[in-house]
Amino acid sequence: MNARPAFDLIFRNAVTRSSPTPIDIAVAGGKIAVIAPHLVCEAAEIDVAGRLALPGFVDSHIHLDKACLLGRCGHIQGGVSDAIRAVAAMKRDFTVEDVYARGSKVIERAIVHGTTRMRTHVEIDPRIGLRSFEAIKALKRDYAWAIDLSLCVFPQEGLTNDPGAEELLIAALRDGGEVIGGCPYTDTDPDAHIETIFNLAQQFDVDVDLHLDFDLDPSWSHMEEVCRQTERRNYQGRVAIGHATKLSALPPDRLQAPTTRLAKSGVAVTVLPATDLYLMGRDATHNIPRGLTLAHRLVENGVLCSVATNNVLNPFTPFGDASLLRMANFYANVAQAGIGEFDACLDLVTELPARLMNLRDYGIAVGNPADIVVLDTDSGPNAIAELPEVLMGFKRGRQVFERRRPTLFPPA
Ligand SMILES: [Zn+2]
Repeated sequence: MNARPAFDLIFRNAVTRSSPTPIDIAVAGGKIAVIAPHLVCEAAEIDVAGRLALPGFVDSHIHLDKACLLGRCGHIQGGVSDAIRAVAAMKRDFTVEDVYARGSKVIERAIVHGTTRMRTHVEIDPRIGLRSFEAIKALKRDYAWAIDLSLCVFPQEGLTNDPGAEELLIAALRDGGEVIGGCPYTDTDPDAHIETIFNLAQQFDVDVDLHLDFDLDPSWSHMEEVCRQTERRNYQGRVAIGHATKLSALPPDRLQAPTTRLAKSGVAVTVLPATDLYLMGRDATHNIPRGLTLAHRLVENGVLCSVATNNVLNPFTPFGDASLLRMANFYANVAQAGIGEFDACLDLVTELPARLMNLRDYGIAVGNPADIVVLDTDSGPNAIAELPEVLMGFKRGRQVFERRRPTLFPPA
């Protein structure tokens, strides 16, 4: 009797980051069942033809609730505080339907660019209340067929200076908030802000993801306090900081100490190239500093890092298509990464943010969900160099999108 194993789907001739020689990936029950060359079995087949298969991109830091605001904010050409003020004014008028509509636009673009996991920050304060939170919870539910969305609730405009914000944060953490964020630099008492966020994190047993050190003045920093709190509470591996642009202002000899500190305390760093490059260095009239912390160099020194989208089409960043491959290419270009470092740049939008988010079932490996995207290229470094099309994507073994390769029509 023929004992060929039956699978739901099989990807033929896929190159993966661990296998430059094409292999087959079999899927059963939404999970990866077997990875082997020339599998003999009964299943629907997709011939990947030597192209690169990835387990999807992981966006560890995005703001779905305040995306796509360009049409309603006029021409804002300022720094960080101008952007915060502009969004604070618009936020009062946000409705659940409005946040849902704008967020769904971005989430759909992320899906068709191959993102399979995402952590979105959601602003919680007395002006917006829980309206954005309710909208993003609905997005999480309605797009679960294509993407795993994790909600990080945070007070963008401060905590100790904003009566009512903490109570709302607690309400959100009781009702679906999965991570707690913060923004100490907008608080009148940054250390108390950090202390309160860590208190809530422990109380609800959630990870911490703070906006931190977002300027180019290295004479002061909140990083030491975050590392201290992380160690005090045994939170190593559960804390991330976004931006950390101050590190880009340090010469190599002064960068060593904070790098070692971050590595030792298990605090991860998320670099947000589009926003960091757009908002930093605005005092300069020429020789403008990039304000981009070199994530791949920090990784070499033991710090867990990711590169992420942050803002899309709003006063913080009036650009964006939610493509993490484009962001990694952009990062590699601006960071002047060498060809030998392109693989590390791809890690910054795949493996490393998955670790940062403590996702334990990510990757093309037997037993993991069959989250697979296929790129029109043949290796990790070429994905960064060529910015290839993402041709198709699968979530738990079900196809969620397809993109056709362009066709040329030369004259007959
Ligand atoms: Zn952010």
